[in-house]
Amino acid sequence: MNRTHRRNRRDLIGLAWRSGRGNTALLFATILVGGVGPAVFMLLVGVTVGRLPEATRLGVDDGAGRVAGPLAAAGVVFLVTQVAGRIRFTVGEILGQRIEITLRERAMRACSIDDGLDHLQDDGTRDDLAILSGAAGGLPLERAVAGLAEVTAALVGALGPLLLLMFFHVWAGAAVAAAWFAVRLVAGRENGKRLELLFGQAHVMRRAEYFRKLAVQAAAAKEIRVFGLREWVLARLDREWLTAIRPTWERRRPSDAKIVLLSCALVAVYGLVFWKLVDDGVHGALDTGAFAVFLQALIGASAVSGGTAAFGLDVALAPVAAVRRLEERKAAHRGAPDPAVRTAAGLPAHRLEVTDVTFAYDEKRTVLDGVSFSVGAGESVALVGENGAGKTTLLKLLAGLLEATSGRITADGIPLRELGRADWRRQLAMVFQDFARLPLTVAENVHVLRADRDDEQTRKTVLACLERVGLGERVERLPHGADTVLGARLPGGVDFSGGEWQRLALARAFFTLHQGARVLMVDEPTASIDPSAETEFFDRLLDETEGMIRIVVSHRFNTVRRVDRIVVLERGRIVASGSHDELMREDGLYRRMFLAQAAPFTEQGGVR
Ligand code: ADP
Repeated sequence: MNRTHRRNRRDLIGLAWRSGRGNTALLFATILVGGVGPAVFMLLVGVTVGRLPEATRLGVDDGAGRVAGPLAAAGVVFLVTQVAGRIRFTVGEILGQRIEITLRERAMRACSIDDGLDHLQDDGTRDDLAILSGAAGGLPLERAVAGLAEVTAALVGALGPLLLLMFFHVWAGAAVAAAWFAVRLVAGRENGKRLELLFGQAHVMRRAEYFRKLAVQAAAAKEIRVFGLREWVLARLDREWLTAIRPTWERRRPSDAKIVLLSCALVAVYGLVFWKLVDDGVHGALDTGAFAVFLQALIGASAVSGGTAAFGLDVALAPVAAVRRLEERKAAHRGAPDPAVRTAAGLPAHRLEVTDVTFAYDEKRTVLDGVSFSVGAGESVALVGENGAGKTTLLKLLAGLLEATSGRITADGIPLRELGRADWRRQLAMVFQDFARLPLTVAENVHVLRADRDDEQTRKTVLACLERVGLGERVERLPHGADTVLGARLPGGVDFSGGEWQRLALARAFFTLHQGARVLMVDEPTASIDPSAETEFFDRLLDETEGMIRIVVSHRFNTVRRVDRIVVLERGRIVASGSHDELMREDGLYRRMFLAQAAPFTEQGGVR
């Protein structure tokens, strides 16, 4: 067993204690009973066997009493040990479930830190989350406490037989103990290595899990059927899974010289002690009872090894280490203290400014390169450009979800990094392109679960926001109006179309503006809305948000032509900026792309 596994076991005990002191104490009591029970049972069986010849001689009437007592006592001890084992398992499961919940909560806290998104993109974080969810190949954590209790009880239970063997011959007890502890040590190390191999492949397991989900979930079901991808998905699942698991399997082959040697030593020790036992027995040095006790002790001592349960336990404990790593990563992230010195309340009253901002997700490629532009109160800016130009990344930087590699973003001249992040985000009304479709009611989706807002006034505002995005009538017709749950798979739930969800996300942004946010940022706000309604919808959006700072990302040029300024991004750089008319007068990327997009409409004299 390596240091990590020892630490995992220690942590587990700490977690168990904090999850329920009474239950943990009960668990320890059952471990003790389960541990002492076998040795007492062996002794009682030995006494019974020892008295048998005498009892036989005395006959049934007088002799039965001689053996009935110890035999009954052995039965009671056996029963108590069994019951203790059952209680141990149940209490272990209860504690295990509690610990699992605690660990999941801790993981959620570690992952949903307010700093940004960087840590979620870290490969280590993804691996650890896969380990936590069991997707990296593991065993349910809820079994870990019961497993640890089991393994400990087995070890405690083996100490009694070893002690008994010492009474037989000290050398016999010592040799058997040495052999089994050596097996335990080597097996522990071997298990440690196999576990390292297993969880070292978490990234491959994640890929396998991805293909498994692809095969069974609805997300790609259409494509899998239409393109006949089933066999391919299954083959990839097989391949990835085998790649992940093979190193562990290969390690399992008992070809290691150490294991062969140890097994030979074990057989030799057992052979020797067994021979001595028989020899002492036939030469009258041992009576029948003692013979029975020592023979049982010889067999019972094998529990020292921990058996296969120890490996299962360490597999089940992997999430404990995963959560520890998630928290360590969070702490490292927090290492750079939040330098928030100013409140963001009321900002920006005048201007949001991006100066010479550069950003890279990784060292290999710069995604934004020397980007500068500014938006004043009441102004609207559209960020346009081809896919991958960096528009969404720029919005994430503005929202403080990512940190610029260099350059500055300021609100009324104050750098964002000097503002509290959560505080700053309260100033923003944002709609992401891949916005969350929350399985809540319509109203909750708009006011996003702020309990203090669930009053009559809130309701009015929610309904007004729904009206403003054109969802008023649709929501009225729902079975429970704005209280209808969204999500077709939920009881009583209904689902919205893509366009309706997009309008709902905008209603959420409107609500946030109503609550005092000063900046509206929307990514492809009309992507799922019918082309015929698109321009009108966008115009309304601008009218309704007059006076605010508005930044819109779009690849549909026609929709955004009404904004005050269009900023054209190409591979992370601003290549042009100006009003639609100004940009059309230049013979640049904007004009070319605008005309290319307009061609199907103009060449054929109408909408296709
Ligand atoms: P746009 O919104 O203009 O389509 P994005 O800002 O989404 O562009 O992406 C800009 C570039 O950054 C793309 O090349 C994309 O592949 C890359 N990118 C986006 N998100 C990530 C991410 N989370 N990790 C690594 N690269 C990313």
